[in-house]
Amino acid sequence: MKITNKLTISIDTLLKYDRPGPRYTSYPTAPVWDEDFGPERFKGKIIETNSGKDLPPLSLYFHIPFCFSLCFYCGCHSIITRKRGHTAEYISYLKKEIENISHYIHKDRKVVQLHWGGGSPDFLSPAEMETLYSHITDHFTIDEDAEIGVELDPRETTRDHLKTLKGLRFNRISMGVQDFDPAVQKAVNRIQPEEMTRRFVHWCRDLGFYSINIDLIYGLPYQTVTSFQRTIDTVIDINPDRIAMFNYAHVPWMKKHQKMMKEETLPQGREKLGILKTAIEKFTEAGYVYIGMDHFAKSKDELCTAQKEKTLYRNFQGYTTKAGCDLYGLGITSISMVGNCYAQNQKTLNDYYSTVDAGILATYRGYELNHDDLLRRHIITRLMCDFELTKQDVEKKYGITFDDYFRKELTGLEPFREDGLLILHPDKIEITDSGRTLIRNIAMVFDVYLEVPGREMRFSRTI
Ligand code: SF4
Repeated sequence: MKITNKLTISIDTLLKYDRPGPRYTSYPTAPVWDEDFGPERFKGKIIETNSGKDLPPLSLYFHIPFCFSLCFYCGCHSIITRKRGHTAEYISYLKKEIENISHYIHKDRKVVQLHWGGGSPDFLSPAEMETLYSHITDHFTIDEDAEIGVELDPRETTRDHLKTLKGLRFNRISMGVQDFDPAVQKAVNRIQPEEMTRRFVHWCRDLGFYSINIDLIYGLPYQTVTSFQRTIDTVIDINPDRIAMFNYAHVPWMKKHQKMMKEETLPQGREKLGILKTAIEKFTEAGYVYIGMDHFAKSKDELCTAQKEKTLYRNFQGYTTKAGCDLYGLGITSISMVGNCYAQNQKTLNDYYSTVDAGILATYRGYELNHDDLLRRHIITRLMCDFELTKQDVEKKYGITFDDYFRKELTGLEPFREDGLLILHPDKIEITDSGRTLIRNIAMVFDVYLEVPGREMRFSRTI
């Protein structure tokens, strides 16, 4: 496939397709999952997928929910506290959960991807990080070439944290920045001066972390095209290996604290989409490749290689080169993706602690995919990762005739074709350079759950 490093799209086209829609870190999306899929069913699935030969490798995710202060835009599952004492108890439960779940997982399976997210994993002290990591390695075998990543907050992470993480074999750092503009930082309650971020990146490089990712958010209060250009220029100057630039998900009906930001200060319409357009153009001009769904990477990054070779994959942590793993999520709210099912852990500390204490899995809800779900998940994933879909591949894998099975969807793609966002070849669907930015909207055509009567499906806007 062609990897473009210069990408443009008209604001009118962006405006036309600006509507709520899922991010497709899973298909079906989380609102479809239900509580009938609980600990026992998940346990059954784990046992089933750990018998037999040639078992796929593992990806492990650990959720550390605590943060010292609340960023008003936050959409994560975070617990705001200044009491460090929480962590000892939480780690003791994570350790028990590791014991519970690893009991069912085949010992020969290697972990090729390990990630700590949050919240803020830097809420743990360096000693706590060592304790947790050593418990993980006592129960799982980490592959020599594993991708071991952590999300860190430059406001709270010390050089000692970084040294400890380096000693534990972590090799990827992802840090939140969002915007360097002091007015925006004040409005979102996240003061993180540029010098602090630069010093933090310097520490990371000095200690030998070879992959650094910076997260940005567009759509925050007081952002303008001009102000955000300065943030983009600063990020380009800092030169991270990857950049994730998320659309601010304004969902105050789910995240009440987002009401702390006045709606009239949020950039809207042309201004907001102008920010997106400028960012895409500037990052791609600076040599970053637009991987898709808000992610950019340097052209030599393995994400770009995987995209060229069509081995890129997408899971709850975003784009990854580790396709085909079973993903186990531990800690409150974490999501597992094992075999043909999803399972999400309990959402409150009390519920999480009591299920772990009872010696059962901490599953609160989940979903087992049927044949049609698996087929559609494959299509959505390949479109989002490869920006093209070969009909014959799908037909062979799922035993269907593509044009018959997806007659309605092919008609639904017509407006995108007319707008030059994709090309409908007889044998494949090809997303054009302009269509990459609207890949969520294109994927939505294949989602059968968006219009189910009686099911409330409220999402953030697609762009
Ligand atoms: S640091 Fe991250 S997880 Fe914590 S409140 Fe801010 S945005 Fe949310």
